[in-house]
Amino acid sequence: MTDTPRKVALVTGSSRGLGRAMALHLAASGFDVAIHYGRNAEEAQKAAEEARAHGVRAEVFGADLGTPANAGTLVEEVIGAFGRLDVLVNNAGITRDGLAIRMKDEDWDAVLQTNLSSAFVACRAAIKHMMRARTGRIINIASVVGLTGNPGQANYVASKAGLIGLTKALAKEYGGRGITVNAVAPGFIQSDMTAELNEDVQKGYLANIPLARFGQPQEVAALVAFLASDGAAYITGQTIGVDGGLNPH
Ligand code: NAP
Repeated sequence: MTDTPRKVALVTGSSRGLGRAMALHLAASGFDVAIHYGRNAEEAQKAAEEARAHGVRAEVFGADLGTPANAGTLVEEVIGAFGRLDVLVNNAGITRDGLAIRMKDEDWDAVLQTNLSSAFVACRAAIKHMMRARTGRIINIASVVGLTGNPGQANYVASKAGLIGLTKALAKEYGGRGITVNAVAPGFIQSDMTAELNEDVQKGYLANIPLARFGQPQEVAALVAFLASDGAAYITGQTIGVDGGLNPH
């Protein structure tokens, strides 16, 4: 008797932060995982070692997602290495904050390319493969600000609102092929990205969070793992918040 082959998940930006927690949760749930990094190869190797401790296969892939074409190559490399791709989590993301009137074109472009265009290119490459398999899960990591807006983040907000729109469009386009596409909208989660915010900004957020604390990466990872699981088979086109009640809707 042969064992059922394990499913494979690619999490972009899983060298650190939320993405790393997602990859490790998926590994703990029995997925083979493709750990992806932009600059932190060493951290990605450590994440892969942690994943392997769950008895699954974990491989490391580097790609600069500031150039969207690299996202397509990344997906193809992962499929080449593992022979399949069941779950794509578009998590890699950056901020280049500033008021719109002073925002440089390169800061607009860098955020849109990294957060939105690369996610689209990764989805396109993954969907071609998932269509042949007639099954697949795509999870796009958006943000609460993609729903609410936020001053000083026109580029980031536009990229995250774009991801939410992309999620809805792809859910309708590929539902008939057995592929679900959902977005996760984290609120304020403790990570390197949010550590950059000054104390006053952090206090301002905290005052508006009904659960009166910031979230942990594992709390976002738990939702991602659920959306990747069999239990989420009938959920598609949704944007689900993990924000301590910051944006009830
Ligand atoms: P983070 O700690 O800054 O980590 C970002 C990850 O993205 C890293 O693994 C990084 O890889 C990768 N990355 C960044 N630029 C890249 C590039 N050009 N090419 C390839 N990889 C790149 O961020 P985080 O807080 O974990 O956030 C993860 C996602 O959640 C982002 O999409 C973010 O917008 C979203 N989010 C976060 C929060 C929050 O409160 N933290 C809230 C809402 C949404 P390397 O380090 O290897 O370069």
